[in-house]
Parts: sequence; C-alpha cells; structure tokens
Amino acid sequence: MSKETNPSSQIHSAPSLIGRAGGESSSFFNPEFETLTREQLEALQLERLKKTVEHCLTNEFYQKKFAEAGITPDDIQTLADVRKLPFTTKQDLRDTYPFGMACVPLRDCVRLHSSSGTTGNPTVILHTQKDLDEWANQVARNLWMVGLRPDDVFQNSSGYGMFTGGLGFQYGAERLGMLTVPAAAGNSLRQIKFIKDFGTTAIHAVPSYVTRLYEVMQEEGVDPRRDTKLRVLAIGAEPHSEEQRQRIEQMMGVKAYNSFGMSEMCGPGVGFECPEQNGLHFWEDYYIVEIVDPETLEPVPDGEIGELVLTTLCREAMPLLRYRTRDLTRVLGRSCPCGRNHVRLDRMRGRSDDMMVLRGVNIFPIQIEKILMQFPELASNYLITLTTDENNDNMTVEVELAQPTDDYKRLQNLEREIKRRLKDEILLTPFVKLVAKGTLPVSEGKAVRVVDKRKVYQ
Ligand code: ADP
Ligand code: ZN
Repeated sequence: MSKETNPSSQIHSAPSLIGRAGGESSSFFNPEFETLTREQLEALQLERLKKTVEHCLTNEFYQKKFAEAGITPDDIQTLADVRKLPFTTKQDLRDTYPFGMACVPLRDCVRLHSSSGTTGNPTVILHTQKDLDEWANQVARNLWMVGLRPDDVFQNSSGYGMFTGGLGFQYGAERLGMLTVPAAAGNSLRQIKFIKDFGTTAIHAVPSYVTRLYEVMQEEGVDPRRDTKLRVLAIGAEPHSEEQRQRIEQMMGVKAYNSFGMSEMCGPGVGFECPEQNGLHFWEDYYIVEIVDPETLEPVPDGEIGELVLTTLCREAMPLLRYRTRDLTRVLGRSCPCGRNHVRLDRMRGRSDDMMVLRGVNIFPIQIEKILMQFPELASNYLITLTTDENNDNMTVEVELAQPTDDYKRLQNLEREIKRRLKDEILLTPFVKLVAKGTLPVSEGKAVRVVDKRKVYQ
C-alpha cells in the first residue's frame, strides 16, 4: 500500500501541527488544542476513540481481543464506553514481538523504538512519519509551556538510539525552533563545557544525572548560577520525589519541570508540568487517561491512587487501547490556573513492580527518597538493598554524605535521626549506612535504586 492511499491517515482529521500559532508571547504552542474546554476535549476524544477502534480492528490481534470480549465498534457511543474495551499489556507486546500489533503495513513505518527493558524483555514500538510529527509536536508543546522559545539553547543529556528520551526531545526541541545540542548521555566534563561554550539555557536529564552533573561542576569550580545561562530543566524518565526536585532547583538555580514519557505511548511528551508545578498535564487530545484499581480494574475516584491506563488517540502505526502502564498515580484536577483543562496527575509513585513488600509492609523507593532528601547533610545518591538474614527480611539504606566528616558522634546522631524518620514513613526500621560521596554506583540512564538479594521461599 502506498503512503498516499494508507486508510489509517483518516484517523487524524484534526490538524494539530500548528506550532507557535499564538505567536511567541502566547503561553500556548497549540492554543487550539491546549485551551479546549472539558466538553470540547471530551467530544474530540470520543471522535478520535471511534476512529482509533476502527483502525485497531484492521489488526488480527485486536480482532481476536474484540471477539473474545464480545464487542464491536458500535458499542462505543460515549466516552465512558472506553471501559468496555479490552486492556492491553506489556505482555501483549511481548507475545506479538516484534510487529504483531502493527496497524499499518511495515512499509508505512519509518522508525522503531524499543523500550529500555527496565523490567524485562524489550518491546518494539513502530512509528509512521505522522506519528513522529505528532510526537515532536507534543514535546514542543511541553517545552513551550514552560517558557522555552526559539532563542533558547537546549541540551539533551539522554542516551540517543533506542531510548526515546534522545530522539524524542531532539525532534521536539527542533520543532519548537531552539538551537539544540544533542550531547547524549554521560561525559559530564564535556556536558559542562557545552553548557558554558554554547550558552545552554535548558537541559533535559534524568534527575539522578542532574545531581551527578552538579557534583562534577563543583569539582571543576563551576557555579551554575554564576557561570552558566541555565534556567530550565526538564527532568523525568524515572520516579523522583518533590524533595528531589526542589534540591535540583536549588543546586542548579533553575526551574525543574517533571516530564513523563513512555515508549509505548511515543516517548517523552505524554505528560509534563506547567509553570504552576501542580501536577503533570497529560495531553487528552492524544490520550484517554484512566486510573484504575490494579486488582479489580475498576475506575478509582479522583484523588485516589491507582494504575494509570492510557489509550492512544492519534497513533497510526501502533495504537494501543487501554494500555496498563503499571505506573501508580492519581488525578489531582481537571482545570489549572495556566488555562489548560487537560487532566493533572500527581507525580508517579513508581510502578507496581517497584513496590517492595517487606515483612508485609508495602514500600516504594520514592518514600525513602523523600525522607533522605530532607537532610541537608546527605547527598542525593542512595541505594536500597534487601536481604534475608536468619529468615528475616531486612532493608539497608546506603546514602552518600554531602560533605566528608570524621565526627563520629555527629554521624551516629544523624544515622539515628534518619532511621527514626524512615520508620515514621515506612513503618519499619531499616539499617542505615552513611557512605562517602562517590561510593555508590551511578548509572548513565535511569538510576537503579533497589537491589533485592532476598531468598525467595516457595
Ligand atoms: P522502560 O519501560 O524499559 O523503562 P521507558 O523509557 O518506556 O522504558 O520507560 C517508561 C517508564 O518510565 C514509565 O512507565 C514510568 O515508569 C517511568 N517514568 C517516565 N517518566 C517518569 C516520571 N516523570 N516520573 C516517574 N516515572 C517516570
Ligand atoms: Zn497548568
């Protein structure tokens, strides 16, 4: 089938590539879509959902799923009918690896990405040219929203290649019209040189890497406030606490905005904080957002934590219906002083598979991070190790000290205080080890926060 006759192009009737339509002084990149009222948004979603369902049904995998669920496209009459649709999961992507969930012929696809495989085998996501255009548009919308303009210089410290944080931000920043610096991951000295030489004003980085970058700046005698033009950071791709964000803002003298992305939905650009920093706006012209109870799969009320489920509304190559992200979050609201009515979600608590169960208590790494970041004596790198000692499950939290010290009395007191505060938060007392800066491993991509060495009893 030729690109011209591809019927799937019908699913994108609305032109959403009107970048900078409002002029540079407008706070909206796509005013037409960013400022829709709830009624308008929901009407658009229903229209796009119907087209997406039709489009999915060109694929055998979905035909089978629909037959099993006993539903047809006619069952989708209101937005709430999305709940009649079958869920899709990472396992489905693995079972149909690599191309079984494609809804266009391969010759119409121009790129594939693969998830970084944090939690298992990689999965493949295909893109048509239109998918890539929409994705760039989404990323540009986010960067514009936080005040970036064509005069800015944008440096991306994500790995390029299969990880979507690289090319995703690259094309988005170019779409906005900034001078882009595709520095890629690692090599902090070179990153710092670029920041200084090119007058970088904005960086995208995983939060754990910003801390590393700052440490190297300190070693090199570079003060980001005095010696650079940095003013905006996009931080994301891994869970981080509000405390971590505030630290990053203070260290670097910038505003740091939370950026949510996932390969299955395109990559970065799915959700982003606006200047209000009151949750992530998830773009509802591109996705239907549901929060469900991970056990019953029923919707949870606004404000309650549940699993994020996303349905793509504009994707050609691999639309996904009711995709179970395993990310846990909650709805904070559906309006915002910034003028956008796209749903606001709380920062991700982690994935359901990040949850540690220790002596019957459910714990997320981010709860521990939140406490550690409240101690100015501590640096930002930490590692949680779970072990079984004499049939007891134990947790050891190792955390780096901000400054070297040999004042053992002070260290003992600090350790005691950290334990006490952790106990208040997670209801059990871990071992705490204070270690020197640079002792714990630093990864170039997403940070590894938990090592589980427990014996598994059957
Ligand atoms: P992988 O699934 O292999 O990690 P992805 O790059 O697609 O590869 O990762 C997407 C996941 O990363 C999300 O499902 C979520 O768990 C995590 N993530 C991305 N952005 C954020 C963020 N801002 N806050 C918390 N978690 C995030
Ligand atoms: Zn807002």
